[in-house]
Amino acid sequence: MHSSSETSNPLHARHERAFGGNRFVYPVLSRRSGGISVGVNLNPDKVCNFDCIYCQVDRTRQSETRFVETDALRVELERMLRLVTSGGLYETPQFARTPALLRRLNDIALSGDGEPTTYRNFDEIIAACAALKDRLGLADVKMVLITNASMFHREHVRRGLAILDAHQGEIWAKLETGTDEYYRLVERTPIPFRQVLDNITEAARVRPLVIQSLFMRIRGAPPSAAELAAFCDRLGEIAAAGGKLKLVQVYTVARRPAEDFVAPLANDEVDAIVELVKRRTGLPAAAFYGVRA
Ligand code: SF4
Repeated sequence: MHSSSETSNPLHARHERAFGGNRFVYPVLSRRSGGISVGVNLNPDKVCNFDCIYCQVDRTRQSETRFVETDALRVELERMLRLVTSGGLYETPQFARTPALLRRLNDIALSGDGEPTTYRNFDEIIAACAALKDRLGLADVKMVLITNASMFHREHVRRGLAILDAHQGEIWAKLETGTDEYYRLVERTPIPFRQVLDNITEAARVRPLVIQSLFMRIRGAPPSAAELAAFCDRLGEIAAAGGKLKLVQVYTVARRPAEDFVAPLANDEVDAIVELVKRRTGLPAAAFYGVRA
């Protein structure tokens, strides 16, 4: 799931996932979070249960890796965590220019070239990552799940979320539409909007969630005032049902999207949405721009 070449990045952004001979694990320098995010790609086959019009995963090239191999992933993750914490990462050409202040491990981001919770052994892989983190003395390092929230109702996903809760986990769930019609236009999935809303509400009752919302121009048109008002209403309904939302991150497109009729919003348009969300919902909200101001 998502803007700049930053890490724990919004909405499944296309990162530079290649590092060494790795197939599942890759480091990203995140200026925003002030350190290195170690990404774990649970969808090497690039298959997703959404088909977002703005998706920034490059599907023009097929991946050679089709399946997650748990043992290989674990080996890559251990090697990468050791490389980052030992400082060896900064001796590699890609990371040699990392500023001193950013030479720290910030998080492990479970994301991928698709929806990570569709991986059938999701709970096992979360447990394996958490155990590894503990074994390496990295218990305090955050694990961030970047997700479209479509699978939270599945039992193995629920189990995985509970493991995250016990290991400094944070869930960044995508919600960026207010009406069924706009949802179908943007996300292009057979999964009902209601399912996603119910999943977010239920998950947010258990622990606070971060919401990630990407807005864009579609054939030149930004989201209408009515759509944005409906979006705020959905957030308000989640909160009214007992869901805790700790932050709404408002993004726009930062890299080449799947469809050429999609374009980024201007920075002031993103700011205006942030202000609207704050005003109408009372929730904390923050802006992330497509092009740096
Ligand atoms: S949910 Fe799937 S299609 Fe949508 S942005 Fe994320 S990876 Fe792309």
